[in-house]
Amino acid sequence: MKLDDRGLLVVLSGPSGVGKGTVRSALFNMTGHDLVYSISMTTRKPRDGEENGREYYFISREEFLERIKENKLLEYAEFVNNFYGTPLDKVEEQLETGKEVVLEIEVNGALQVREKMKEAVFIFIAPPTMADLYNRLKARGTESQEIVQARWEKARREVKLAYLYDYIVVNDTVENAADKIMAIIRAEHAKTERTIASYTKMIGDIED
Ligand code: 5GP
Repeated sequence: MKLDDRGLLVVLSGPSGVGKGTVRSALFNMTGHDLVYSISMTTRKPRDGEENGREYYFISREEFLERIKENKLLEYAEFVNNFYGTPLDKVEEQLETGKEVVLEIEVNGALQVREKMKEAVFIFIAPPTMADLYNRLKARGTESQEIVQARWEKARREVKLAYLYDYIVVNDTVENAADKIMAIIRAEHAKTERTIASYTKMIGDIED
């Protein structure tokens, strides 16, 4: 299969508390795109208003460990005592049919995908300032002080890894960040390495 027949895998990542989920929602609310969101599996309990199969597939620790053993996850990470992971078969299926698949995952997982799928596009969502990041983590309010502290420690390590990504998008405003991500996705489609096969075919009839 030619590279440009296969869908594009877009990995949105960034430190805990940067607002990845909000930016992702804004991206999906934009019109005129064909993006598909990859729903992750997690062992954490659903929060109020969350539904199985919509925000996540909520599964037990035993089920999760079974999936790791059977190599059914593209990537996974343990985060604040819970597992999170991307189901491999669904992502593969959608890429095969030419879909643009968006993952929204934490940094450890994104780096695993980087190893396995080099052709994916890696976008790091960055905070405008570190103080901003800390305030957002604290303001979330749904977690205990201990969890906030654990997320902050992790976030401080994660911000240093932005250089491993293809793009860094500052989440100054949600709309601005979503806009930039959409522009990146569109530009990626026009990249020579993705289009050269069909382009060469198109000019194939021309004689020198
Ligand atoms: P939350 O519990 O707040 O929904 O998510 C916690 C963190 O897990 C967020 O940073 C989110 O991006 C990340 N996350 C969600 N799904 C996945 C996944 O499939 N893999 C990895 N590695 N991280 C994930």
